Amino acid sequence: RAKARGRATYQFFEPSLAETAYADLVLEAELAQALTRNEFELFFQPQVDIATGQLSGAEALLRWRHPRRGLLAPDAFIFVAERHRLMLALGEWVLREAAATARRWREQGLTPGPAPVRIAVNLSRMQFNLDGFADTVARVLGDAGARGQWLELELTERMLIDDIQHAPTTLAQLRALGLTVSVDDFGTGYTSLAHLTELPLDKLKIDQSFVSRLPDDVGAQAITRAIVQMAVGLGLTVTAEGVRTAAQWQLLAGWGAQQIQGELVGLPMPAAEFEAWVRAR
Ligand code: C2E
Ligand code: MG
Ligand code: MG
Ligand code: MG
Repeated sequence: RAKARGRATYQFFEPSLAETAYADLVLEAELAQALTRNEFELFFQPQVDIATGQLSGAEALLRWRHPRRGLLAPDAFIFVAERHRLMLALGEWVLREAAATARRWREQGLTPGPAPVRIAVNLSRMQFNLDGFADTVARVLGDAGARGQWLELELTERMLIDDIQHAPTTLAQLRALGLTVSVDDFGTGYTSLAHLTELPLDKLKIDQSFVSRLPDDVGAQAITRAIVQMAVGLGLTVTAEGVRTAAQWQLLAGWGAQQIQGELVGLPMPAAEFEAWVRAR
């Protein structure tokens, strides 16, 4: 492409910026229509109890069935949705879909145990920062005929720190509705665990960048073990993300982590496939 435009380097940057802006505009326009065209879908990834191997929950992961580009993962489009506030509508769609799915699984008796399979939903900063977010959640639950106990919300460290004024209140309201609140990708941000103890939280999810370096990497071992042990000491549930090997599972179990999620258990699947997977176990 650069060759077709000649050798001058200044020509390389200008069109490339314009192209990026144009691609963003196209994506934005397509995103706006994708909701009404029903092109979004939730995939579900199992989370299991580390001691028993029993299913404890499922993380809902957003996918876009793009008419030309095929199945897209969030990294391909979320950033545009966030920039253009489309994320609010999209985020509410995710919540509604998760609540409806939780209700359906409950009605189908999908899980053997007394506790329902909790569905974990990833939140965007834009949603969490919005005034009255807990009211939105309450409304979504009511509309779907779902209980707060059936859902979990995943926030990042950054979201909590950036909204430190309102975060405690919002978190308390969400927990009063019965929802579980967890911190996603823990260890990648700048939060100290001490800082998090001031917030009403239930769970930490240890980022897969640490887990994936287990068991061999001594540094990753030290960090992961410290996080797990402190979190457990603080009464938080610990989920390890991106677990791929039995050796990783064993190490994490030994340190006291309670749940795992990752390739070893199952990758994210469409709802029907997830349901079949659960029944086949
Ligand atoms: P996340 O919440 O940390 O989700 C975990 C990501 O790791 C998922 O990528 C999942 O497919 C992937 N993963 C799970 N197990 C393994 C494993 O064993 N090995 C490897 N290499 N990867 C694994 P995905 O689905 O592409 O999602 C990426 C991120 O997009 C998520 O990271 C989350 O931050 C965001 N996201 C996903 N769905 C939503 C949504 O509905 N709303 C918002 N706001 N963000 C979302
Ligand atoms: Mg997550
Ligand atoms: Mg994560
Ligand atoms: Mg992530």
